[in-house]
Amino acid sequence: PLLTPDAHLRDIADTVARRSAAEPEFQQAVREVLETLEPVLAEHPEYIEAGILERLVEPERQLIFRVPWTDDTGRVRVNRGYRVQFNSALGPYKGGLRFHPSVNLSVVKFLGFEQIFKNALTSQRIGGGKGGSDFDPSDKSDAEVMRFCQSFMTELVHHIGEHTDIPAGDIGVGGREIGYLFGQYRRITQRYEAGVLTGKGIGWGGAEVRTEATGYGAVFFAEEMLLRAGQGIDGRRAIVSGSGNVATYAIEKIQQLGGTAVTASDSSGYIVDERGIDVELLKQVKEVERARISAYAERRPGAHFVASGSVWDVPGEIAFPCATQNELDGDHARTLIAGGLRAVAEGANMPATPEAVARFREAGVLFAPGKAANAGGVATSALEMSQNAARSRWDRDKSESRLRDIMRDVHASTYAASERYGRPGDYVLGANSAAFETVAHAMLAQGV
Ligand code: GLU
Repeated sequence: PLLTPDAHLRDIADTVARRSAAEPEFQQAVREVLETLEPVLAEHPEYIEAGILERLVEPERQLIFRVPWTDDTGRVRVNRGYRVQFNSALGPYKGGLRFHPSVNLSVVKFLGFEQIFKNALTSQRIGGGKGGSDFDPSDKSDAEVMRFCQSFMTELVHHIGEHTDIPAGDIGVGGREIGYLFGQYRRITQRYEAGVLTGKGIGWGGAEVRTEATGYGAVFFAEEMLLRAGQGIDGRRAIVSGSGNVATYAIEKIQQLGGTAVTASDSSGYIVDERGIDVELLKQVKEVERARISAYAERRPGAHFVASGSVWDVPGEIAFPCATQNELDGDHARTLIAGGLRAVAEGANMPATPEAVARFREAGVLFAPGKAANAGGVATSALEMSQNAARSRWDRDKSESRLRDIMRDVHASTYAASERYGRPGDYVLGANSAAFETVAHAMLAQGV
């Protein structure tokens, strides 16, 4: 006899808890999805029968490899590389690479799991995967980063391809790293297979607006969400964490839409600039000089740097957590709510803890989960793949307007699913159920 949805979900949760006991981030990501799927399973008993969730929580393939490289002093160093090919029901595996000391199997699996759902929401026919390494590019020379990327690709080359698995950037992997990775792929394979990596440079296969897409997309999603509630971005004060691609271009778009983004942060602290962050100066400090964020405050009259506490101590109406997982906890949520918060859009992946999300829900704060809100990055990666396959190149206007349309569609389908399952405006429920239905439908059709 078929398990009830409730018993089935408990069963899956137990399996994951047992099998992944040492993977807290992965468990957190799975739990957050399972908690929302009961009404979907009640409507689709065939998903229980076909074991869709049993299969979905187990990656199709997990690669762990040694990455040896030589530092500038001539010493041999070894890092660990990962690629988790999670689900290919909708298309080739697609997802970024993260180079950061915190990277381990749990982190890569949580990101890969989220990527399946996020990619499904974009309607771009891409499966989910993720990879990375515990390598820290932040204190390495350019030549060291190049040698590391070449070594990383020397192994990864065997597992990727434009129809197989298409990596891109994430934390610690930007245009520079993608360039070094692509160069090595091309040398080893003797193929100019542009569609094997996304986030390439403009002029050698990259797409306009890919760099900006995650940040812009998060703001477009927030705008849609606020408009639905009869509000907008114009005239609003926003709090942004992070100072990488996502944060920088979220800030830029907030200000283009008439809002004021007053903060940015990095691992050393945060800056407050009441006039609104100067995006050019932020890029100069973080992207060009690769310096600490305090350098921004030193050069900008009226701005100040804070080394202690949290960027979430600064009050604002819209919060864009764009740094990393679990950066915004229940206490931060309480502080933000007391300061007049109305909406949150996750630019990073899983930046709000489950407790923070619960606080937002109780307080009636609009909350856009990363799977929906930050899907613009990977969606634009898929547009880059289309342009590569067609040997074409779109201009900036076309690229940005496609991104805007996609984010509008992601919002609409997410909202519609939240309505269909009885909790209109619950974007967590909406994103999980809409994405799950899309993936489950394909898995069911393709058999076990
Ligand atoms: N790393 C990004 C994400 O979290 C983008 C992945 C991609 O473009 O493939 O969605």
